Amino acid sequence: MNFSLVEKTIAWKQFFRDVQEGLGHAYIFISEDEEQLASFLHFATLACFCPTVCCECETCESVADGSHPDVYRKNGDGMKVKDDMEPLLERVEMRPVKADRKVFVIENADKMNPSCQNKLLKTFEEPPPHVTMILGASSESGLLPTIRSRGKKLYPEPLSSRDIIAELTEDGFDEDTATVAAAYSMGNLMRARKFAEGGNYRDQYEQVFEMLMQLKKSGQIAEYVMGPNFAKDKIALTLDFMDVILSDAMKELLQTDARRFTVGRERDLRQVAAGFSAQGIAMSLEAINVAREQLKFNVNAANVANGVLFAMLEARYKWQKKG
Ligand SMILES: [Zn+2]
Repeated sequence: MNFSLVEKTIAWKQFFRDVQEGLGHAYIFISEDEEQLASFLHFATLACFCPTVCCECETCESVADGSHPDVYRKNGDGMKVKDDMEPLLERVEMRPVKADRKVFVIENADKMNPSCQNKLLKTFEEPPPHVTMILGASSESGLLPTIRSRGKKLYPEPLSSRDIIAELTEDGFDEDTATVAAAYSMGNLMRARKFAEGGNYRDQYEQVFEMLMQLKKSGQIAEYVMGPNFAKDKIALTLDFMDVILSDAMKELLQTDARRFTVGRERDLRQVAAGFSAQGIAMSLEAINVAREQLKFNVNAANVANGVLFAMLEARYKWQKKG
């Protein structure tokens, strides 16, 4: 990801103020977007040694290629206390070799097991003055509350559609693909890229589209709910797909000029919208938001799926199109 996309975020500005005024001892970057998170960790590490983040000097190059002696990068996923955490903590105690500080980066920190996190805690709380620790996590929930409260938490904001489209077209994807991918990504570049590349994400999108075109009777719901797209690890994305498709169906129904994110699918959208009034679609979109909330509170995926599909059918019949 381009530094320009990192640089303009509030999260970066908060971090960069510390670079200029004095780095703290512990930071936690939190983003669900793996690609964005990796970029933040990378540029934040660079900034600790080259405040202009020039990406060209010898220092920047050695940080980037992993040869800088004062940078330690570890993956929290699969980390073991004896083999990984203890050696890392020993290194924390050593003086920097080349720069005036050492930087320890742990990606996937939320996947570190609790014993590793506990082992890290004391150092994370109060490392030697020459040390800065930077953790990357996809969510806070995997971090122990004690770790969470000891670092400065920074939340990179989701990207705009425009930025995602620019990033993808720069990487060689055509404009239409980039536009659709950006619409489904909800600001998550990693997700947009996976979508643009096709594969599972694309299949899931097509299946959700098909489901919305076909779903007419409550008798069909059970089969969809049992299907792969409402499994625990896929339901969130299915809901996002439903959201964008139904929003576009609404635009089609109302014949507005607003841009469709589902590029070139007007006929399919009309089939999705068939029998719906605008009010009915609005209620369905509301049901999707309710479903997202339920997932946050760990409601079982099948129950959430059932709820949202029944609510959609109900919305369609309750607010049926006249005539
Ligand atoms: Zn540099």
